[in-house]
Amino acid sequence: MALVVQKYGGTSVGDAERIKNVARRVGERRAQGDRIVVVVSAMSGVTDGLITLAKQIMSAPPAREMDMLLATGEQTAIALTAMALQAIGVPAVSLTGAQAGIVTDGVHTKAKIKNITPKETHRLLDAGNVVIVAGFQGQTSAGQITTLGRGGSDLTAIALAAALHADLCQIYTDVDGVYTADPRIVPGARKLPEISYDEMLELAGSGAKVMQLRSVEIAKKFGVVFEVRSSLNDNAGTLVKEETRSMEEIVVRGVALDRNQAKVTLVGVPDQPGVAARVFKALAGAAISVDMIVQNISHGPGMPLTDLSFTLDKADLAKALSAIDRLKADVGFQEIATDERIGKLSLVGVGMRTHSGVAAKMFETLATAGINIEMISTSEIKISVLVELSKGEQALRAVHDAFLG
Ligand code: ASP
Ligand code: MG
Repeated sequence: MALVVQKYGGTSVGDAERIKNVARRVGERRAQGDRIVVVVSAMSGVTDGLITLAKQIMSAPPAREMDMLLATGEQTAIALTAMALQAIGVPAVSLTGAQAGIVTDGVHTKAKIKNITPKETHRLLDAGNVVIVAGFQGQTSAGQITTLGRGGSDLTAIALAAALHADLCQIYTDVDGVYTADPRIVPGARKLPEISYDEMLELAGSGAKVMQLRSVEIAKKFGVVFEVRSSLNDNAGTLVKEETRSMEEIVVRGVALDRNQAKVTLVGVPDQPGVAARVFKALAGAAISVDMIVQNISHGPGMPLTDLSFTLDKADLAKALSAIDRLKADVGFQEIATDERIGKLSLVGVGMRTHSGVAAKMFETLATAGINIEMISTSEIKISVLVELSKGEQALRAVHDAFLG
């Protein structure tokens, strides 16, 4: 008899039929004798709809009231899922995050889980119930409702699996698992039987949005092995776990294309100590995270000048420009150039640690395809390049073919 945590995302509970489908699957698993905790997201589109509504009322709604509002999405879904199970004769009880003992800090709309006391969940399981827990939400120690940031139901599932010492954690979504590349863009993409936490983190951070990034970090921290699979078929999914020796034999696990970045270049920055520090401090002060950074060699006669380029989330561009604009007089750069027509292509694999020539092969592949590289950054297990957005998909296919075709 295993204790299983299953998480169903918004599309898996997108309408009454889908919710009945989830109940059927949970019922089948329980019939095998397992104890099951189900975490559900809001029905697809509901969270976005609530955000739109709030913005129609006021442009910057207070975070506390946003949490009060957004938590209703998951509360609807847990009640309907519990009903669907009861309708087919399976005893089931729904719990809000607070009722499930999920205690968070007080940072509304992006709260962090501080601890989970799964006493009530254990009691209900012991009494023979399937327990349905609302994803994405918790409560502060003072009783305020909080939410965990977009996609936070993944985090609820992973954290619950850790707190309950679950034997198995399954993340059900609308894709079959983690692929070597987005199969909608790369026809030859293959589903991976397994992937390490670090590779999954790099891929997720590079635009392959299968799961919330933070939930993978927490899974790594607590050693929660989980499986990503589809609620719409019975295909085996992808197992996400600690890196094993044999994983290094495969040099490249996957490639991803991130279309959500923008590039900023400060042209003619004085090449002096402290300039970069001031620029990035201003950005950090505005809570903007920067991804790639490149500084050119100095140019020009007299006082040496340089160009400083970096990338950030497109959504942060306006905020970044106003933060930097305030530095213009102080730092003394000549102009700011921005480019939103870029794509970041990333190649990920733990095998890069022990294999050489990966970068050369990637650059050569792009050169052969006539694609110009605008920026490069690397980590131990990742190589990212910036290319023109209109060539992004072509670049993704070419690089996938070269390494994984
Ligand atoms: N419903 C929330 C969202 O859309 C949480 C989740 O889906 O995991 O972000
Ligand atoms: Mg979701």
